[in-house]
Amino acid sequence: MKLKVLGTQSPYNTPNHHCPGFLITDNENKILLDCGSGSHSLLNFPTDLQNLSVFISHLHRDHYNDIYNLQYASFVLHNQKRIEKPIEIYLPSSPNPIYKDIIEENNSFANYHTISQDSSYNIGNMSICFCPTDHPVETYAMKITNKDKTIVYTSDTSFSTKDRLVKFAEEADLLICESSLLREHGFPEINSHLTAYQAGIIAKEAKVRGLMLTHFWPEEQIEKYVAEAKEIFPNTIAAIEGQTIDLPTIKEKEEDMR
Ligand SMILES: [Zn+2]
Ligand SMILES: [Zn+2]
Repeated sequence: MKLKVLGTQSPYNTPNHHCPGFLITDNENKILLDCGSGSHSLLNFPTDLQNLSVFISHLHRDHYNDIYNLQYASFVLHNQKRIEKPIEIYLPSSPNPIYKDIIEENNSFANYHTISQDSSYNIGNMSICFCPTDHPVETYAMKITNKDKTIVYTSDTSFSTKDRLVKFAEEADLLICESSLLREHGFPEINSHLTAYQAGIIAKEAKVRGLMLTHFWPEEQIEKYVAEAKEIFPNTIAAIEGQTIDLPTIKEKEEDMR
């Protein structure tokens, strides 16, 4: 599996920094985890729309805004006979007005599926399942496995979901974990987002091989997040737009550190 980082920032995009998006490729199949504002600008059109499955973790704008651009692109590219298969879009069914707004879009070449705690899907050799997190709307962490490697993406979550996420991410090769906050921001422990330190706790308790932090405040220095998480989990990196990672590389990096 190959991972390409498309977006790492919230709540808004700035030049070269987009809202959340991660593209996972395994053979000819592609899974896009979230499509926040600006993230689609790092996709290759029309190639990346072939065999594309988009999974939206929750219906907050920083995670789904670009779905409308992808839908319209699929419509135009299909009309031009440049893509053969519809894109597959998976999303939570609430809040219902947003869900309906997306699935009722006419100018789109797409199929729609709902995600829930009990659903799982196979995309080629990859399988994907979901873990609900505590967040103001219906939200899911996602686990992608290709029998060899496992990537877990927390999406947005409160630390109150820690135990559930630790179990869900157990021994994953890579945990992509939101870290919207730093301890110095002074937010209370229970919030709808994690500090970088809390992301480190989840990575450590889940015994994952590598931790990739994401969902940064636009005004904040990214090095601060990495330093805070490294206090508790040394094998931590920051997600950076355009970065591509082969999962074995993460393991090799880990070996180097021993
Ligand atoms: Zn959110
Ligand atoms: Zn968010």
